[in-house]
Amino acid sequence: MSPPLEPRLSDVLDVISVEGHQSESVLEALGRWCERQQWLPIYLVSKAVDLELGILMDCEGRTWVDWGERSRVLHEPPSGARLPFTLWLHTHPRMGAYWSLTDQSTLRFVHSFTERAIVLGQPGFLMATKQGDEVLGRSEDYPDIPWSNNTFVAW
Ligand SMILES: [Zn+2]
Repeated sequence: MSPPLEPRLSDVLDVISVEGHQSESVLEALGRWCERQQWLPIYLVSKAVDLELGILMDCEGRTWVDWGERSRVLHEPPSGARLPFTLWLHTHPRMGAYWSLTDQSTLRFVHSFTERAIVLGQPGFLMATKQGDEVLGRSEDYPDIPWSNNTFVAW
């Protein structure tokens, strides 16, 4: 079953309860929300399943969705992916939106071939971008990572 262009959160949660969170249509729906920059339903699915979720988007707009082990796909980019990645997204299903020490080391690693990074947490999302990318929100300071803009936006 192919998901509609605008997947609905309630439908996706229904599919998860029947087919599980690895269902192809669930992964496709997560990719669609990512393409549309609809971060909240992605976070709510991760929270409902209670697992971290990672999504990579390459420069041709293709997405790779991965449950758990967020840094694995970054250190072994999916075959067929074209650099740069336009987005590395992951979730903190039970925590705040901040860059953990592990995240900071990943951010240093991916900086040269990734344009934007987002972490989705309980209160909202934190986005790291390079200069000139505008996001409205509260600026956060992470002196140890090479990303110039870190902006928190509440849900
Ligand atoms: Zn993290």
